[in-house]
Formats: sequence, C-alpha cells, structure tokens
Amino acid sequence: MRIYNTLSKKKDEFFPLHVGHVTMYVCGPTVYNLIHIGNARPMIVFDAFRRFLEYKGLDVNYVSNFTDVDDKIIKKAIEEGVDPVVISERYIEECKKDMAALNIKPATVHPKATEEIPEMLALIDELVLKDHAYVAADGTVYFRTRSFEEYGKLSHKNLDDLQGGNRSLLVSGEDQKEDPLDFVLWKPKKDGEPYWDSLYCQGRPGWHIECSAMSKKYLGETIDIHAGGEDLIFPHHENEIAQSEAANGCTFARYWMHNAFLNIDNKKMSKSAGNFFTVRDILRRYEPMVLRFFMLSAHYRSPLNFSDELMDAAKNSLDRIRTCADKLQHAIDMSDGDKLARNEFAIIEGMKDFRLRFEEAMGDDCNTADAISVIFELVKYINVNMIEVSTKTGFEKMLEELLKLCDILGLIIVKKEENLDEDIEKLIEERTQAKKDKNYARADEIRQQLLDMGIILEDTREGVTWKRA
Ligand code: AMP
Ligand code: ZN
Repeated sequence: MRIYNTLSKKKDEFFPLHVGHVTMYVCGPTVYNLIHIGNARPMIVFDAFRRFLEYKGLDVNYVSNFTDVDDKIIKKAIEEGVDPVVISERYIEECKKDMAALNIKPATVHPKATEEIPEMLALIDELVLKDHAYVAADGTVYFRTRSFEEYGKLSHKNLDDLQGGNRSLLVSGEDQKEDPLDFVLWKPKKDGEPYWDSLYCQGRPGWHIECSAMSKKYLGETIDIHAGGEDLIFPHHENEIAQSEAANGCTFARYWMHNAFLNIDNKKMSKSAGNFFTVRDILRRYEPMVLRFFMLSAHYRSPLNFSDELMDAAKNSLDRIRTCADKLQHAIDMSDGDKLARNEFAIIEGMKDFRLRFEEAMGDDCNTADAISVIFELVKYINVNMIEVSTKTGFEKMLEELLKLCDILGLIIVKKEENLDEDIEKLIEERTQAKKDKNYARADEIRQQLLDMGIILEDTREGVTWKRA
C-alpha cells in the first residue's frame, strides 16, 4: 500500500509502526457554525481511507479533534450574549449529526481542546524547559522557531524566505517576539474571554499546540498518519511538527496526507470568503449519499469544483449502482436454490478480479476515483452476466460483492426501508393478480399509486421489477 506523503513529496510504501495497528489523527473543525461542504471533504475522504485500512484487517485508532476555543467562537458568543461553551457544544452536536448523515464513522476519540488544557501546558512547560520556547513580559509564550533546525521540512519552505516574507508582520505589533518567525503557544486572556491558570499567565492556548497535545495523549509521541486539508500544511502542521519533535525528541507523524480544496468557481470554498454551502444546505436538496459519492468521485489530492451538474451526475451514477442492486434483490426474492449451478461458478469467480483492482486503487494512495470506476465495471459485469444466473445463491453472491465494495467506501446502497419494500412487493403482487383477473382498472390504479410513491414498474421477461424514480 502506498501513500503520497507531503513530507517526502512522493508516494511512500505504507507500513504502520506497530504491526496490525494504525494511529491516525485528522484535524477537525473549529465549531462556531454549521460545517460547510469544504470541511466535509477531509472528513469523508479520510473516513473512506480508514474504512479501507480496517477492511485490510488493521486496527485503526482514529482521533479527530474539535477546536472549541477560538476567536471566532468567542465573537459569536458575544454576539448571542451566551457563554462560548453554548456555541461550541451546539455546533459540535450539529457537526456530529452531519457526520452521521454522511455515514462518517465516529472517531475512536473526538477530543475537545478545552478538555485537554493540562496536556497542552505540560507540552509548553517541556518546550520552555528545553529553551525551545520563551515567555514574554505579558505572559505570552512563544515557540522559538529557529531553535528547531528542521523547521520548514513539511511545507518545503526555506527559513530565510519565510523570514523575508514575515518581516512586515513586525509592524502588526508583535514586537515582543525575538524573531518574526516565532509563533504563539499560550496567550494572555482578554476581558470576557475564557481562560485557564498557568505558570505564565491566565490565558488560553494557541491553535497549533492543541493538536500536538491531543495527538500525543491519545495516540502517542509518534503516530502513523496525520491528515487534513492542504491549507493546514503551513503554518499549522509545520508548527505541530516543530512543537512535538522539539518537546518529545522523536518523529511526530510518519505519513502526512493532505486533501486538495473543494472549490466553487475554481476558488476555495471558505466561510471567510462567504462562498460556501453548509452540509445542511446541500442535504435539503440531495440525499447524503449523493454528497458522499460526489466527494469520493475525485481523488482526494485533486481540486474538486462543486456544481449542481456534478451533483446531478453523482446522483445518476449512484442510481445506476442502486438499480443494479435492486434488480439483484428482486431476483433473490424471486428465486431459490442454495447451490450454485454449474455455469455460475465461472461467473462468480470472475468477480474476484474487480475486488483485486478495487484494492489496488485504494492501496494506491487512496484512489477513490479509480475504485469507483471499478465498481461501475462490476455493475456492467453483473448486468451482462445476470441473465446466465438462475439460483438464489448466485444472485446473492453478486449482490454481496457489489455491496461489499460500496461498503468499503462507506456508500450505503440499499436503503433501510424493508417495511416500505414489503408494502411495495405486496402492491406489485396485487397488481399481478388484478391483471390475471383481467381487472385492468385496478392494475392501472396500483401502478399510479406506486408511481406516486416514486416507484417505477418495469415489465421484464423475468417478471415485474421496480426501481425508485
Ligand atoms: P477549519 O474549521 O477551517 O479549521 O477546517 C477544518 C478542516 O476542513 C481542515 O482540515 C481544513 O483544511 C478543511 N477545509 C476547510 N475548507 C476546505 C475546502 N474548501 N476544501 C477542502 N478542505 C477544506
Ligand atoms: Zn491540527
């Protein structure tokens, strides 16, 4: 299995530090609003990768944080006249609802920054003790960037170029820094802001230290995979590496995965630019699986432009898989035979090739776009070969294989609507009987009733089949 590693700028062979176990940390959202579909991209693509690792038999310890102390949360709390915790708790709950709708597995742990302050302070103490950090007159603690020799190794930036670019920042009043490249680990409280006691001052942590501390607490000093959107490479992830490696004296994360942006009109979707749709906006117009499918239809390192046309195309593609699954389910319901017929062995055996190619695609830097193409080839194979299959077992094996591949990507194909399905089947039986009885008026009435429910009937050689409109 290979992963494109931002650190080495190439696809590296993936092997976890501890055989059979993978530790993975994905930077989560700042919770001051409903998440937008750009935020959902890392959630969905790294969830699909996690599912693939689990499918390969690896035990994945997956941690994703909520940043619940931040200027934007405090600003919103002031606007609403409530405590910041009211804002963060509200949007954590809403975010979890969106994640559940999109079939994103809950992380093993979802730590919240405000509940991990002692761990952050312990890390800061360690950095001060080792002279990698210093305390300014007002109690702000800064990381001494130049004390970490490898600074810039993730973003492949040169320290001197950075300094040139950052000099102008001195004008912004940060003149208590020893060097413009230094960044904040702990800052003093301002009136009305949440704060915690510390050796340095009453205050709150900087953003970067959160992830270093939470990653260490839940996954250990060296983790396998650290992931997030590509906007986090610099400075967030670069700073995480500097803090963690300077404090712990060992590699922080072995593989760094970064997703490209979800764009609108080729511009990054972001709250600050105002060009965003929340997941909630989109789920009013499309079912969640369409959004999930859309996200996975591109490779995670390629920019993806959001448009109604692409979402409609995603819906049609998903429907093609569903129609195939519905046809198989119908065939299963209409047939029996628990042993494969002689001619069916080769057909069922032929499906193995798709599984192998699917695994190859996912094992090649999580190429969900290619993996989805393989699913479509399987759909085509099933459609072509189904005609040769007659036993219940044969149809079941086909459906099982199709659902398995979709399941690895977290795509739910068969809706859990058994009761509804039963009602539909009953109506179809009644219509078949009405036709036999030459009661065409009743038969037409039932067809219309089903149509109103969004069910389309098709009279085929094998009998009546149905699909959702
Ligand atoms: P934030 O709440 O802005 O810190 O973002 C949470 C996660 O969403 C981070 O991993 C970001 O990199 C990611 N993210 C934000 N906007 C986009 C976007 N337009 N496309 C892809 N990922 C994004
Ligand atoms: Zn982070």
